[in-house]
Amino acid sequence: MHAPFDPVPGQPLALEPGLRLVLAPNPSPMTERGTNTWLLGTGAVTVLDPGPETPAHLRAILAALSPSEHVARIIVSHAHLDHSPGARPLAQATGAPVLAFGDARAGLSARMAGFAGLGGGEGVDTAFAPDTRLADGAVLPMEGAPIEVVHTPGHLGNHICLRWGARLFTGDMVMGWAPSLVSPPDGDLTDFMASLDRLEALGPARLYPGHGAPVAEGMARIQALRTHRLGREAQVLAALGPDPAPLDDLVARVYAELDAAMHPAAARNLLAHLVDLHHRGLAHLETDPAGPPRARRLS
Ligand SMILES: [Zn+2]
Repeated sequence: MHAPFDPVPGQPLALEPGLRLVLAPNPSPMTERGTNTWLLGTGAVTVLDPGPETPAHLRAILAALSPSEHVARIIVSHAHLDHSPGARPLAQATGAPVLAFGDARAGLSARMAGFAGLGGGEGVDTAFAPDTRLADGAVLPMEGAPIEVVHTPGHLGNHICLRWGARLFTGDMVMGWAPSLVSPPDGDLTDFMASLDRLEALGPARLYPGHGAPVAEGMARIQALRTHRLGREAQVLAALGPDPAPLDDLVARVYAELDAAMHPAAARNLLAHLVDLHHRGLAHLETDPAGPPRARRLS
């Protein structure tokens, strides 16, 4: 039996033995109810994603610990402003080290090098610097089962997921309530699809995302996200013609049914598809800092 998911910001919620959630007070259309700060283990506790730098949230994380407990390590899934800025104040308050794949530039795709004028860069915590870098495949001792680090670039180059037994902590890579934003040049859809393959190969039972409720059917959700992306790719290819079309025209064609207020975010995802298709030889994308990106079909 799992407890119902109805967290209140700042109040610890026990989800299963050895796993607690402290919801950060930063709800928004991009963060659902807020950032999920996970407390793994008892006694020597691992904090995953301390969230934004909010004094009330820092106090709530510390208050969630019993007097006999302490923070042993702080892990950050990726350097976005809703996940990582709380790490340094928590480290200063507890003496625990901050662990992550690297800073906000770590693991960024070389595929973006040929394109100027992609825009993007929203929400990146450029000041983030971990004390210890976690390589792909790193194993951390932990009660019950070790924690295994899985480098999953795509949403951001330095994004990692953590496997802890049958549980998979998926950050912003796989969430139950919405697909991830993949916004070039920080986001790379080619990497994202490869990361989905890696997660599927792990065969996770239960997902604990960075926002929103746990996902009981982890494999089904990963497969559904892949199907969603491939469906969108087919729509993008169908919208491309032999002559270069500006990005906004393509957004209007592909996302015709979407509320216009969501078109800016949709444009970021569409641009991610165009970079991916360009590198796969299926489309030609041209960018120019003075004008909008334009794309045409190649095959
Ligand atoms: Zn993020």
